[in-house]
Amino acid sequence: MHAFEYLRAGGLKQAGDWLRQHPESRPLAGGMTLVPSLKHRLAQVSHLVDVGRLTELRGIDSQGQTLRVGAGMRHAEVAEDAQVRQHLPGLAQLAGQIGDPQVRARGTLGGSVANNDPVADYPAALLALDAVVITDQREIAAADFFLGMFSTALQADELIVAVRFQVPRRSAYAKFRHPASGYAMAGVFVAEHADGQRRVAVTGAADGVFRWSEAEQAWAQGRQPGALRHDGLLDDIHAPARYRAHLASVMLQQALAQLAAEKV
Ligand SMILES: Cc1cc2nc3c(=O)[nH]c(=O)nc-3n(C[C@H](O)[C@H](O)[C@H](O)COP(=O)(O)OP(=O)(O)OC[C@H]3O[C@@H](n4cnc5c(N)ncnc54)[C@H](O)[C@@H]3O)c2cc1C
Repeated sequence: MHAFEYLRAGGLKQAGDWLRQHPESRPLAGGMTLVPSLKHRLAQVSHLVDVGRLTELRGIDSQGQTLRVGAGMRHAEVAEDAQVRQHLPGLAQLAGQIGDPQVRARGTLGGSVANNDPVADYPAALLALDAVVITDQREIAAADFFLGMFSTALQADELIVAVRFQVPRRSAYAKFRHPASGYAMAGVFVAEHADGQRRVAVTGAADGVFRWSEAEQAWAQGRQPGALRHDGLLDDIHAPARYRAHLASVMLQQALAQLAAEKV
């Protein structure tokens, strides 16, 4: 690990000021991804700005047809929250499947979204639920936020404060876990919105989260969706592209079956 200075922010403004003051600094939330990256020298920072105790990043509020979840909310808190379970059961289900109990106790929504790992779970929910990422500087629609592998629309000095999700009529998530890490080898989030629009978002299968529009159309028309095309999907030591395409199709069936059985 390279040497760095640790700064614990007392408020959102101070955190933002420090990030601007030190161009080589990074915010630290749960540390589940950032700390191992620093340890293995995959990342280098001059300062770590700890945002883990900021009250501005906490809380879950139901606001009409939306649910606002603070960026600092831990995966276990999202999974267990009564409002999330009532309004967005698919999101609670997703958060409860992230990693293991230790990761869920430390990792945060904001850290996961900012990191945009192509095999992370939350990005699928944000895309399917037409979410908006609220930062300390602006609001960014999920469709414009995820730019590709580990890349987002965030500026270096920009902090995620919360995510605002649209509350759909129904939602569900199905994931095929990597047996060692728990990350998604294919994860499919399905949502039927209040206006009847269907959304199907896939994570884990490609170099970034994406909407599977053929499956959305088939679902809306009550048809069986065809198989996901495998060209362009991830092809690595964990799984070839054809297998990932197959897994995504199976996860879609499982997510839709959960809706049909009204389990969620
Ligand atoms: C063993 C293991 C298994 C895992 N399994 C899964 C899994 O199955 N599914 C899954 O989705 N994830 C998984 N993860 C990742 C986990 O969900 C982490 O919580 C997540 O990747 C990062 O969240 P964090 O709060 O720890 O962020 P950190 O590690 O602290 O930060 C990650 C990145 O986000 C930035 N950041 C943090 N907070 C903010 C903010 N508010 N605004 C702007 N930038 C910010 C940091 O600067 C850093 O670049 C796993 C991790 C481990 C170690």
